[in-house]
This record gives sequence, structure tokens and C-alpha cells, in this order.
Amino acid sequence: MHVLIISDIHANLTALEAVLQDANGVDATWCLGDIVGYGPDPNECVARIRGLPNLVCLLGNHDAAALGKIDIDAFNVEAKASVMWMQSTLTDESRAFLRDLPEKVIHENVTLAHGSPHNPVWEYILDLRVAQLNFSYFDTPYCFVGHTHLPVIYRMNSDMAAVRMMVPVAGEILDLKPRGLLNPGSVGQPRDRDPRASYAIYDTDTARWEYHRIAYDVPGVQKRILDAGLPLRHALRLAEGW
Ligand code: ZN
Repeated sequence: MHVLIISDIHANLTALEAVLQDANGVDATWCLGDIVGYGPDPNECVARIRGLPNLVCLLGNHDAAALGKIDIDAFNVEAKASVMWMQSTLTDESRAFLRDLPEKVIHENVTLAHGSPHNPVWEYILDLRVAQLNFSYFDTPYCFVGHTHLPVIYRMNSDMAAVRMMVPVAGEILDLKPRGLLNPGSVGQPRDRDPRASYAIYDTDTARWEYHRIAYDVPGVQKRILDAGLPLRHALRLAEGW
């Protein structure tokens, strides 16, 4: 089975559509959270995601904040403005979908979480030390996470003593070996200085990880962000991927 692995869509429908078109022909989609936050199209993204066949979808911190589930003061000033806009823009239907999302699941023998298996909604896995600690919090061969908006693969060596980190190159196909902690990067707000939408395709039969980037109409999304009265910073960052 070919599974589309996406995370951190952040209400960017144009980027999401570009990914879905580019990944055409997958059998299932696993979305690792943060459908909303930052971008101008929260309801459209929720509707598009929830309509995908064989969907597994996780709750992200921005999804939880938009539902009022977590303290808004946990966000910086501009992210807070975006959370408040989300809260007033989300329809009851979108809210109902987000409210039912789990924080962590094991599916097809893969652990899925937004931030980390240790602290699913909040923890950022940004370095080897945090990655290594997190290998104790899942038992499956692989764990997929999002949240940092940075594509990365952490591999535990066979004697479980050391973790290595690698950053995949767009178009790269990797044969995974247990155990691994993988991040597909962000669809709607990449932060690795590459503005193209980021995603992966995981083959459940061969444990193959195909890593992809796809360009989309950034100026169109920037215009909708500004038209909605959302912070300028959230429009600017899309052009350079930060
Ligand atoms: Zn995010």
C-alpha cells in the first residue's frame, strides 16, 4: 500500500492541492496534524483532508488551539493572532472534525504523532538528543512525526546505541531499516529555506520512503493571507520557507 504522509498543512489549500495532485494514485493518506493555523483556508483544508480515502489524521497543537483546547498564551504574538482568527473562522463542521482527532495512534505497525511519541502535541524533535530519548516511547519499527516543519530522518543503529540524522533530498527514495523516526516536512509552511510543499510517500510493503517537494502558487496564498487580515510575517515567510 502506498501512503501519502503529510503534516503541517496550516490552512494552505493551494499547497495541499499541489501535493495531492503530485502524489496522485496513493492508496491512503496519513496526516500528522496542524491542518489549521497561520494560513487563509482552514475550513477548505479540513474539508479536503476529511474527504480523502483511507485517512488517518492526528491532532496538532494549532488544531487544539483553534478548538480552545490549549492556552493561547503558549503562542507568540503573531501565532496568537492567527489562532484567534481561526477560532472565529472555523465552522461547526470543521470544529467537529478536529475535535475527534487523536493525539497518537499506531496504524499498520507505524506510530503516528504530531510532535513526538513522548509528548504528541507539543514536543519538537529538533536534535539528536531529543530524537534518541523518543525512541524509548514507541515500540513499532517506525514512528512518523511533524511539528518542526523540517524534513528529517533519524535512524537508530541495530544495537540501539546511537541515533544518526539525515536530511533527505527531494526525489530521494530510501529503503528504511528499523528503527526510524521520520518527518515528511510541512505542506503549507516549510521552514528549511525551500518554499516548495514537502511530503513523503511510504510503501507499507517494502518500507520504502519516497521524499518529494512540489512548487505551488505562493503569491496567491500570500494575497489571501493579507486579505484575511492575518499577520504580514505569515505571508512573507512562505516565499522563502522559514
Ligand atoms: Zn505546525
